[in-house]
This record gives sequence, structure tokens and C-alpha cells, in this order.
Amino acid sequence: MSRTPAKMIVRRKWTRRDLFKAAPVAAVGAGALGLALTGRTGAPVEQNKGTCRYCLMHCGVVATVQDERLVKVEGDLASRTRGFVCEHGYALREQVHSHGRLGHPLVRRGDELHEVSWDDALGEIARRLEQVKQRFGPQALAIQTGWPLVRHPLVNFLHRFARAYGSPNVASVASLCEASLRMGQALTVGTKYAPDVRALKTLVVWGANPPTTAPPFAHVVAAKALNGNLIVIDPVRTTLAKEATVYLSPRAGTDGALALGLMHVIVRERLFDADFVARHTVGFEGLEALAAEYPPERVEALTSVKAADVEKVARLISADKPMGVWQGLGVEHHESGVQTVRAISSLEVLCGRFDGTHDSKSLVTALGPRFKEEMLPALYRMRTPEPVPPPVTAAALGRERFPLYEIYNREAQGEVYVDAILDDQPYPLRAMILWASNALVTASGTARLRKAADKLELLVTVDPYLSDSGKLSDVVLPASTFAESQDIDADDEHVAAKGLVPPQPGSLPDFTILTKLAQAMGLGQYFPWRSFQEAMNARHVTWMVDDAVQPRPEVADGTEARFGTVTGKAEFASTLLERAGQEPLPKWTAPTEGLTPDFPLRLVSGPRPRARINSQFAQSPSVTARMREPELLIHPDAATKAGVTHGARVAVVSPHGRIEIRAVVTRDVHPECVVMPAGWGQANPNWLISDEKRDPISGFPAFRSGACRVEPLSTS
Ligand code: SF4
Repeated sequence: MSRTPAKMIVRRKWTRRDLFKAAPVAAVGAGALGLALTGRTGAPVEQNKGTCRYCLMHCGVVATVQDERLVKVEGDLASRTRGFVCEHGYALREQVHSHGRLGHPLVRRGDELHEVSWDDALGEIARRLEQVKQRFGPQALAIQTGWPLVRHPLVNFLHRFARAYGSPNVASVASLCEASLRMGQALTVGTKYAPDVRALKTLVVWGANPPTTAPPFAHVVAAKALNGNLIVIDPVRTTLAKEATVYLSPRAGTDGALALGLMHVIVRERLFDADFVARHTVGFEGLEALAAEYPPERVEALTSVKAADVEKVARLISADKPMGVWQGLGVEHHESGVQTVRAISSLEVLCGRFDGTHDSKSLVTALGPRFKEEMLPALYRMRTPEPVPPPVTAAALGRERFPLYEIYNREAQGEVYVDAILDDQPYPLRAMILWASNALVTASGTARLRKAADKLELLVTVDPYLSDSGKLSDVVLPASTFAESQDIDADDEHVAAKGLVPPQPGSLPDFTILTKLAQAMGLGQYFPWRSFQEAMNARHVTWMVDDAVQPRPEVADGTEARFGTVTGKAEFASTLLERAGQEPLPKWTAPTEGLTPDFPLRLVSGPRPRARINSQFAQSPSVTARMREPELLIHPDAATKAGVTHGARVAVVSPHGRIEIRAVVTRDVHPECVVMPAGWGQANPNWLISDEKRDPISGFPAFRSGACRVEPLSTS
């Protein structure tokens, strides 16, 4: 079926039945306000504590509510983030009460979306999913979740729902965000880790920009420039880079070569603890031989970072300890992303990061006695209440091509959904639920994905707003925002009795929608709870997606196992990679999309400006006012060559597509790179990115090392 974006929403009148159904919600709201104060309008005022979930900082907030409306958001001084709220958190009020909120479920008829009742919408999904199961098997359903559900326990219940239906296919944003970091670190030292910034003397911020991605802690990072050493490595000269002790600007996609160059100097000058390396690592000889191929002069030629700077930084990070690296998406989003992360982790091992004398959160302590039972791969573990639905026989999508991805992330690799839809490989995928996800904008290879959507028998979007993906869907279910759902605290262990503000008319909290959908599909026995809080309080059991894919530690009793790897040692040469037929050493490979006279610039897509977090905040006037349209950063030298002037609209052309965008000419970007944000439908970099050039270990797309050219447009 050929899908066109919905032309319009055909409105539905509220019936007496709808009003009757809405009454309990209003009653809950009124009850919640019963003990409250009285505000200026005479209506009672209530203050509710909760969590902002727009980004992973999960700041504690206090919401002032009056007449069931959110009137103010403030930081919670008693929370972990100590009263911090950024402009996104303050925009919560606009987001909750936006005119863009959906007030009814929508069902597609032709190229129009019609408002229908919840019963009709859920019945439509149940009926069509049953047809898909009959024709293609239950594995033909896939769920993709988005940013608002990152580290949210609802994802475990989505796995439960999919498994009850018979599908192994649930994917989260891990398919293209943070998983390469998680995997690279765990393959090297057995677990994911983060720098304990306050305890470090030398902090390296590599491909990351904490002031925009971790604003509550930006001041702690920036302070390293005053009370230690702050080294920033990034092709974009961020505000943090301007304050840094040393700033290195490598070509995009060459970070792995730079890490090997730093190790070359450290090994050549014997700046590491030879005894620790001998006792607690494996593969050093291989690493030494690999690093020998990267003398500083060669690294300068590959990365454009001066040889003298490579030597200077290598000596600094190995001498001024403790040191640690804050790695960001700029390191991951390349074809050799996992190996680049491994190279940087190996560098940290060589600099004594895990020798037990410097790092207050040593992996030795973290792993300890639990190592043998459950710490390999020492990552995210799924838990679910009993009864656990019966096992699924089909393998999750992605397991064939990226087997280690499933081991470390316990889920399907959503970036290969498109192959299963278009090529029926390894089996047909015919129904998709996008839950808090705008995947048709945010996934790589948008053109192919858009084509794939036409082949689906059923596309469902669950979202508070009508997203670009929703406009292409068969059914759209209006979800409440996180503020209207029962609040999950920062460590995801406690669900509060109510949200920051009562659910707004027409929408339902995610967990309620999931429960109702399971009931409509005859799977209600797996969702017997009356609330999310009740479900979370039920006795949980640890649940492996598939126990067969779980690797086991292989350390003899009595042997000191310091790291959660197969060998119990830091693995410069990875046992699991070797067994998976991958390169065991942290080798760097150059981006396969080479620069040519036709496409002379590296396209770096995705660095987050303050205006949006992916495609969130399009409905928020106070946030969109910060950046009315997406902008392309281009160096003056590249702009002159391309005939482009500051502020002009330009075309960005790659071997895969073309988009138009406004140019900002700035010296804050590497002369061979152009940089643009992601999440904007009208100038979406994913039209320019290949969905075939992938990291062979994680399946990540090369969002930050495509090739492109910039052309002036005749009308600006
Ligand atoms: S940093 Fe901003 S967006 Fe992120 S959780 Fe805190 S207030 Fe929300």
C-alpha cells in the first residue's frame, strides 16, 4: 500500500460515552487536589514532585498544578540534580498543554486520519495484528521505542507484550545511540563505565559536549580546566573546547587513529605500568604491534592533529593521573565506532585508569563476588513480573548480522528492520509499532525506510503529538506525556502514585495503553495490574531474552578475576570479538565513503544544539525560538570553495540524497567537515546518510562520517 502523509484529521464529536469515560480521570484529578492550597483564581493549588525525562539527566522537578493545568515547573532542591532545570524542563508546561496534543485516537482511511474511539482504535490494531500473525507469523511484528523511553521500565513491559504475542522484536534507541559505547567498553573491561569527573586530575572529553548533553554537570566538567587538565577532542570547537587546557581537532571519523597514536607514544616511551599490564590484561603484544603502526607523523597525516600535540597529550594523560575519558556519540557514530571506543578504553587501561589506585569506582569493586554468576556481559538485565510469557522461537532481528549487539543490549537491532520489511530477510516484517518514536525521521536511510513503510500491513504510532511518522501511520494512539504518567524516579526503582499533572483529555498513559491493547488482543492474563505502580511492585524475576546467547566467564576457581570479561582481564584483544569472527584488536578503519572531488566534505550529523533533543520540542515556542530552523556549520575555507556565504540557504548533496538548509560560516568547525543537527523533518540529514555503511559489531550507522558537498542555491 502506498502511504502518503495524512492530509488532514477528520474530527469526531465527543459522545456521552466519552464524557462518561473521562469522568474517572477528572475525579482522580479532583481527588489529588483535595488537600491542596488555594491559588489566586480560587482554585486549589498543588505541588507535585517528579522527574524530567526529556534527557538522561532525569532532573528532579516540582510542578505547580492548578485546575488540572501545569502552571509552573521548578527544580527540586532535594533531588540528585539539586534544583537544576534547563530550558527544556521549563518548556514542559508548553508541551503538556500544546495545541498539537492529540485528543483522540486516529485511524487512516485513504489519505485521511479519522478520529475514532479508543475501543475502535485498539480493536482495529488487534484485528490487523491477528491477520499479520496468521499470514506471516508472530515474528512479523516489531516494536521500536524512542527517546522518552530510554532507561524506562516500560520497555521491559513492551518486551513482555511482544513475547506474549510471539515476537522477539523490540528495539530501542540503543540501535543508534550509546550502544557502541556500551559494547566497546564492556568488550574491553567487562562493563560500561563513566568518568568520576570530580575525582579525576585529567579529564579528556572526546566527541562529547556535556554543556548541551549533561547540563546539570557542565560546571563540574568545565572546572577541570581550573583544578586539573581538561582536554577536548572534537572536530567542532565547542564552548568547552575554548576553555580547555588542550584542544585537538581531528578529522571526523579518525578518532581511532588518534587513540592508537597516543598509545604509540605511551608504549614507545614506556609510560605505562608494565606490571599491571602483565598481570591484568590480555593481548598487549598485539596492541603494541598495532600501535607501532601509528607514529605521530602518520597520525598527523591521517587526523590533521599535529604530531607534537599527539606527543604532548600522550605524556600529559599518562603522567597527570588519575585520568579518565568522557566519550560521546562523536566517537560512536562511525563504521569503526565500537573499535574506536575500545581503542580509547585500552588507552585508559594503559594510563592506569583501572589499576585500583586511582579510580574510586574501580571495576574490581564493581564486579567482585558477583562476577561469576551474572556480571558478564555486566550490562542491562531485564526483569519482569511472573507469569513470564512462553519463550519465542524466532531469533530477534539483527542477531544474524550483529550477534554481539543482542548479547549486550538484550533486544533487536532496529536499524535492520528495514531489510526485513523490504527484502524479507531473515524473515518478513509486516507490522510495526513506533512507541514514543519518530523513527521515520530519526533512523538512518530515511529514503529506504519511507519505502519500507509502504510495504507494512500495519503501522501504529503511540505519541502525544502527530509526528511525521504518525502522519504515515494506519493508527495513531494519543499517549500522555511523561508528566501525566506515574512518575519513575531517577534510578527507576520506584513508581510514584501519580504524575506531575493529571492526564490531559483524550490521552492515556503509556502503561494504560499497553494494558488495554493486550486486553484487546486476548493477552490480558499477562497484564493483570490496575496501575503501573502495582505492576512494578509485583514480584519480579530476572528474565533473559534468550539465555542461549549469554556468554559465560571462563575463569578457573581461585584465579583473580579483575574485570568482567571472559578472561577476567582487561582485553586489548577481545575473546568475544574473536569468537564472533571480528577483529579482536582495536583496529581503526577509515570511513569507506571516501572524500572525492565530487564529495569533498565530511558530513557530521547529530550534534545537539540547545533547540531540540532529537525531534522533541517542535511544539514548544520557547524552545523553537532558540533556533527557528536547522543550520549547517561550515568553515570559511570550505564556504569560499563552495561559493557559499554566511546565512545563505544551501543544498547539501551526498551520494544518497539532497537537502536544503541555511549555512552558518564559522571557524568553530574543522575545515573538512560540515555539521548539522538531526531531528528536523524539513532538513533531515538522514536523507544523506547511507543505511548500508554500518559498524560491523553494533550495526550503528555512520551518522558522523558520510561524504557530501555544499552548493549555493540561486534564491537565498
Ligand atoms: S537537563 Fe533539562 S531536559 Fe534534561 S532532564 Fe534536566 S531539565 Fe530535563
